[in-house]
Amino acid sequence: MGLLEKLKSGLRKTQEKLLHELKRIVAGVPKADPATLEELETILLGADFGVHVTNQIVQAVKSEFEEGEGRHASIIEIAKREIEKILLSNEKNWGRNGQLFGPGLYRAVNGPTIVLLVGVNGTGKTTTAAKLAWMIKQSGETAILAACDTFRAAAIEQLKTWAQRVGVDIVSASYGTDPAAVAHDAVMAAKKRNISYVIIDTAGRLHTKHNLMQELQKIRRVVSRQIPDAPHETLLVLDATTGTNALNQAREFNKAVPLTGLVITKLDGTSKGGIVVAIKKELGIPIRFVGVGEQMDDLQPFDAKQFVTALFNE
Ligand code: GDP
Repeated sequence: MGLLEKLKSGLRKTQEKLLHELKRIVAGVPKADPATLEELETILLGADFGVHVTNQIVQAVKSEFEEGEGRHASIIEIAKREIEKILLSNEKNWGRNGQLFGPGLYRAVNGPTIVLLVGVNGTGKTTTAAKLAWMIKQSGETAILAACDTFRAAAIEQLKTWAQRVGVDIVSASYGTDPAAVAHDAVMAAKKRNISYVIIDTAGRLHTKHNLMQELQKIRRVVSRQIPDAPHETLLVLDATTGTNALNQAREFNKAVPLTGLVITKLDGTSKGGIVVAIKKELGIPIRFVGVGEQMDDLQPFDAKQFVTALFNE
């Protein structure tokens, strides 16, 4: 299945609900009367587009219908245009000495590129680490996984299983080991074995939020002593099915560790994929990858245009 087909299939629940409901109001009265606008607002909020995106679309429909005197685009076309505008704004700016690697990751000019994955438990960090390693391997590069969630024995085992399945090396230590030490060893191993990418899986929960953020900062410090630019990527993994919780998590993590981008997982499990647009609008942090399933090839570099195409199923 091609990337677009897979994305379409991942977004099917959102797409079906959204288009079905939009078509229903469009099919009724082709006017932007208050009742229609109110229905539009309800539909968009219901798909988790959030207040700001919803307002932008409703206002755009209102003004276009007022000014267009019948020669305006349809409500669906206007919604699509506004969503595309939001997703395309403030596109990634690499600005550092690296380059963008084919599958959508930053690539250090010399030595291994360090990718740190952060996020609360259950959002899909470990799975995303494996999927990224697979994507890197598919493109002919090498990757090593670092099992830095040493606070959960099961997390270490889960990543080991994935490493085997994907066919990449892993650096791990026993339960309770200092995660920063594991990250350190993984970077050392990558340097020694000439491996291009180190994917660091981290804990999603410690005794307190403060402890967790301190732990992540420590990992960052340790790897930056080994490679001054590292980590080159700090990606926050968010679960699309958690709606506004995802937005709050992004705010919290971004305060503690500077994020280079977001990975939004489980789009296949929700009819509320509008959260992707809400997150982009409210936080402006680039969305870098989307997860559309549980298998290793179910992660895609985020492409705004393709996302809109899939959302409106063209
Ligand atoms: P972690 O605690 O953040 O490391 O989360 P895990 O990687 O263990 O993932 C938690 C659950 O979410 C697992 O059952 C994964 O298979 C599932 N998962 C992760 N990403 C996706 C996705 O894109 N789609 C679906 N449907 N499930 C996902």
